[in-house]
Amino acid sequence: MTPGEVKMYVCGPTVYGLLHIGNFRGPIFFNVVRNWLEKSGYKVRFAYNYTDVDDKIINRANEEGTTSEAIATKYIEEFKKDFAALGLKPHTYNPTVTETMEPIVKMVDELIKRDRAYVANDGEVLYSVRSFDGYGKLSRKNIDDLQAGARVEVDKKKRDPMDFALWKPAKPGEPKWSSPWCDGRPGWHIECSAMAKNIFGDTIDIHGGGSDLIFPHHENEIAQSEGSSGQQFARYWMHNNMLTLGGGKMSKSQGNIMTARDFLEKYDAEILKFMMLSVHYRSLSDFSDSGLATAIAGLGRIYSSLALAEKLIQAGAGVVAAAKGAKAFEEVLATADADVAKAMNDDFNTPELFAVIYAMIKAFNSSVRAGQKVTPEVLATAQRFTAWMHTQGEMLALFRESPAAYLLKLDDRLLAEKGLERAAIDAKLAERAAVRAAKDFKRSDEIREELAALGIAVSDTPQGAVWEVAK
Ligand SMILES: [Zn+2]
Repeated sequence: MTPGEVKMYVCGPTVYGLLHIGNFRGPIFFNVVRNWLEKSGYKVRFAYNYTDVDDKIINRANEEGTTSEAIATKYIEEFKKDFAALGLKPHTYNPTVTETMEPIVKMVDELIKRDRAYVANDGEVLYSVRSFDGYGKLSRKNIDDLQAGARVEVDKKKRDPMDFALWKPAKPGEPKWSSPWCDGRPGWHIECSAMAKNIFGDTIDIHGGGSDLIFPHHENEIAQSEGSSGQQFARYWMHNNMLTLGGGKMSKSQGNIMTARDFLEKYDAEILKFMMLSVHYRSLSDFSDSGLATAIAGLGRIYSSLALAEKLIQAGAGVVAAAKGAKAFEEVLATADADVAKAMNDDFNTPELFAVIYAMIKAFNSSVRAGQKVTPEVLATAQRFTAWMHTQGEMLALFRESPAAYLLKLDDRLLAEKGLERAAIDAKLAERAAVRAAKDFKRSDEIREELAALGIAVSDTPQGAVWEVAK
């Protein structure tokens, strides 16, 4: 709407419990969208809301014998902890429903004035979907088809079965706010329309959310926002696809969910972000043991190269870097930024971006060797590789750990999976060094084979033998 600026609104969580890993696909992806737009020169204002009034919150409060306000406050804090642990950039705005009551009431009032909403006898306000010509344009559905497929609801209040609540009367004991129609609370859909308008005005540039929100939530947001303002609501809609667990939809009732908290305790944030961004945001992403192993191996490759670069830079203290690195490396580097831009400008194609990253890693690995003499050109290669990788890492919120420490952590995880311990392997290697010193090469080879059978690869370098977990 405004040159050089992006107004972006993404639907946030209903705060009544810890979020599962699938809920973080949106925050992880839209963080990249924001970062890429900023890198492309836009000033981005990013709103991500908390739904802090809802049936689920009220039910939870009743179960725990507390207020819905206490539940919402608690789980906003818990969300913030997970969000911080994931290392994502804070949003510009985190509006809540309870602080947006006045704009919500105003928008409902406007919809009634424009004959797009009506008040039932008990004070419930309903949106009349037939009053809005564009209803169904986002989800490409039409009202008659929707009705044919809908359960026939016995709800005398509704003029049309597809009509939905904008404001509903409070039941005894429920939290309530006063309005011209009844003491009650807003319906879920109107909240986002009002929060977006309150921050940005009638039109936003990008509206995002999970693909499960397209219908009815986002369809209803359009009906409310455009129905009350007469202006286009969002110029672009972006929906991230869902995350499945072992091929099945994650659901609490099926018992197959994993909270982000559990994941971060068991694994780490880099693995989750890497896994999610390796798949295009519009594709279904499946969380499985093999997917996890692939992500760990991929991160292992990337961090191994970063660790090698770090070692070379340390060993090159005192050397003055050349203006350019090795020829083969520079050839790939020369087009890398353009390749990244091509991938990202093609609907945020992050898998393609990772292909560029792997090409850079390949070029770097083929240009240097561990333990080699650090020449000005080798130093330049290592420095320029590290800088380029960090630029990508900033955008993706990845590659932020100390490479050596991170590799150690990855190895420990792989060792634990194999039931092995670092100290025992180090002891074996010390034994091997001793027999080698005594020129017992037969025993030395035996030890290497024993370790290989356990999945530990030993290699001899000028600095002595080193081992790594076979990935
Ligand atoms: Zn929403």
